[in-house]
Amino acid sequence: MAVVDSGYGIFWTEALNQFQEELSEQEFTMWFNRISYLRSDDSRLVVSVPSSFYRDQVKQRYLSSIEEKLFELSGNKLAIEFEVHKLETSAIKDSGTNGHKNARTKVPNPPAEAQRRRTKRPHGSLNREYTFVNFVIGQNNSFAANAAMAIAKNPGTAYNPCLIYGGVGLGKTHLVQAIGNAVHKDLDNIKVVYVTAESFTTEFIQAIREKNTQRFKNKYRYADVLLIDDIHFLQKKTETQEELFHTFNALYDANKQMVFTCDRPVSELRDLTDRLRSRFERGLNVDLQPPSYETRHAILNKKIEQLTLTIPEEAISLICNNVTTNVRDIEAALTKLVAYAELVNKNITAEITRQQLKDMFASPKQTNITMDLIQRTVADYFNLSSQELKSKKRTRVVAFPRQVAMYIARDITEYSTTEVGLEFGGRDHTTVMHACQRIDARMRTDPTLEPTIQYLIRSIKDQSTVR
Ligand code: ADP
Ligand code: MG
Repeated sequence: MAVVDSGYGIFWTEALNQFQEELSEQEFTMWFNRISYLRSDDSRLVVSVPSSFYRDQVKQRYLSSIEEKLFELSGNKLAIEFEVHKLETSAIKDSGTNGHKNARTKVPNPPAEAQRRRTKRPHGSLNREYTFVNFVIGQNNSFAANAAMAIAKNPGTAYNPCLIYGGVGLGKTHLVQAIGNAVHKDLDNIKVVYVTAESFTTEFIQAIREKNTQRFKNKYRYADVLLIDDIHFLQKKTETQEELFHTFNALYDANKQMVFTCDRPVSELRDLTDRLRSRFERGLNVDLQPPSYETRHAILNKKIEQLTLTIPEEAISLICNNVTTNVRDIEAALTKLVAYAELVNKNITAEITRQQLKDMFASPKQTNITMDLIQRTVADYFNLSSQELKSKKRTRVVAFPRQVAMYIARDITEYSTTEVGLEFGGRDHTTVMHACQRIDARMRTDPTLEPTIQYLIRSIKDQSTVR
């Protein structure tokens, strides 16, 4: 059938079925037989009615229950819009004699459809700025960006599922939403659902509390493209993991595209059921690295261009030389500078940049990295306590994180192996040496380990900078 929509037509049909059961036959025939479904996007559902009188009556009597029912069924708050299409007499007769089935399968007029294409609304839960055009590709992210673009062209075919991982501010959310925006804009009949793992969890808990998991299931299991951001949030959330496992299987079997993001490689997630872990590891796993000087420069230039600003090259390179952590920090530096320049009504110069951003530029040497901070950060990351890191336990769950912490301590502080050993429950300096060798060796065979360690080091430095 030629009806074009974003997948909500089925919910409309189901809503009608329910009304038919709930209302008397006369009432149903009177008010629902002549409404027909036209189209929908992620925020609204459009139906046609034969007159404005009819529209006003239906609105007054049923609008809130229609909205409620659709919310129940689809899990989405859809606004209902009515278009008045005067039906030809024969059409009215048809729907009158054949029951409501005819009315609801009416195909929209071609002109209305053409207009819809031209004015397709932005997706309700995606940031419009997060597009591929706005994403600067550098060596640090080209693999992930190319995979994302391939997915957006042909969702559900080549890289399914796909998991994008990397530290904070490196563009995970931007990329995953760029897939959503591209699919939503370019492809018809495709329902894109974007959600953070945190909202997914909250919605699931709420659905259980309200004893209404059907709505929740409908929202996710009818997705054509499901994008879940920050899945590290699911650690320890056993029931939500279970639900996602089933969602995953349903979508996977139906060849629907899934893309996840995570702040670390999946192998480093703790308290995740093995079966869900193995699902995440299926398909393609790609990482985002911190940008090089050239990429930072290109990104900053792009942001400046978008804001139609002129900033002297000297100021730009000052920022790129000093803000090295991630893209979010580069944006924050620019925002601060622009706000200042506007406030005092001056052009941005290298001098103003130096002055205004001196805190952000604070030399990374001026830090206060303690052994305690290293232990806390590493323990946290692996979902352990600092005590466990210092304990005598030698199970792999503890031993590996302990080796990582020792390695980092040797790498970024001046502590000797003897001192590090003492801080880890009075261990011998040879144990520390051994730990560092093990990590070194493992980094050569496991490409995910170095990014993890870099991430931890950045996180430790971030927390310790004296500002
Ligand atoms: P993450 O989700 O990994 O923490 P985000 O996707 O939120 O990071 O990115 C942080 C900010 O940096 C966003 O405003 C995003 O648009 C921007 N950004 C990240 N990477 C790039 C890039 N390669 N090109 C342009 N902007 C980027
Ligand atoms: Mg993010």
